[in-house]
Amino acid sequence: MDVEVLGNFGARFRLIARGVDPSFMNAIRRTVMAEVAIPAVDKVYIAENSGVLYDEILAHRIGLVPLKGGEGLIHPSECDCEGKGCPRCEAILSLEVEAPEDNYTVYSGRLKPEGSVFVANNDIPLAVLNKGQKIALEAHARLGTGKEHAKWQPVSEAVVKYEPLIKIDTSKCSLSANCVQACPKRILVVESNTLKVTSIWDCTLCNECAESCPNGAISVSYNPANAMLVLESEGSLTAQELILAACDTLKNRFESIRIALENTKEAS
Ligand SMILES: [Zn+2]
Repeated sequence: MDVEVLGNFGARFRLIARGVDPSFMNAIRRTVMAEVAIPAVDKVYIAENSGVLYDEILAHRIGLVPLKGGEGLIHPSECDCEGKGCPRCEAILSLEVEAPEDNYTVYSGRLKPEGSVFVANNDIPLAVLNKGQKIALEAHARLGTGKEHAKWQPVSEAVVKYEPLIKIDTSKCSLSANCVQACPKRILVVESNTLKVTSIWDCTLCNECAESCPNGAISVSYNPANAMLVLESEGSLTAQELILAACDTLKNRFESIRIALENTKEAS
């Protein structure tokens, strides 16, 4: 298996694996989506809310704000408090605001961390208040995974795709460049009297280029032996950290299977 990383290790990242079945990459994708633990607000204790948003809607919006940190926190299911909530498994953020003017927007950056968890993006609108309206609340965040609720899903995009193949029959190509205009991803160019593909992995297999060619010089297909994993983090962990965490999760499971098999062999 040959692995290539495209782009930097920021919020979005693309990883190409050659010579491996896409289902293998899909295992990593599914593990990132459902098994990597990140923090999110799970309980909101509202002391005051004189704005127009119902408490439930405000709490729901706060629950969906991406959070970072949480080092040292353990999942409530592993905690001595048996899921009731304590400093070992919960981190608190507080919000206290009184609108100084009408149409005053309260952003996620007003959620002040009182523990190891803090907001990943300060600019998410939570509510709009009129002058004198107040919100005072305490939000309790805990670790969770995407299989519990979408608010713990650490990615906004997680895709596995086959390697696209665009075959150009140069004997039929008249360089009319219809395909260059037709391609929505603009990955076809005419250079030195030759039609070329600039970045094949950006192809979405839409087939517009083949349909636009009057001579039938282009055919679009895919190679199932090579696959690309595309991830976009919602901010809690970088895409690189997400892949590493998913690989660790899978590795631990494989290790459990190996140990079980070895024990079975010794017993027999
Ligand atoms: Zn606890």
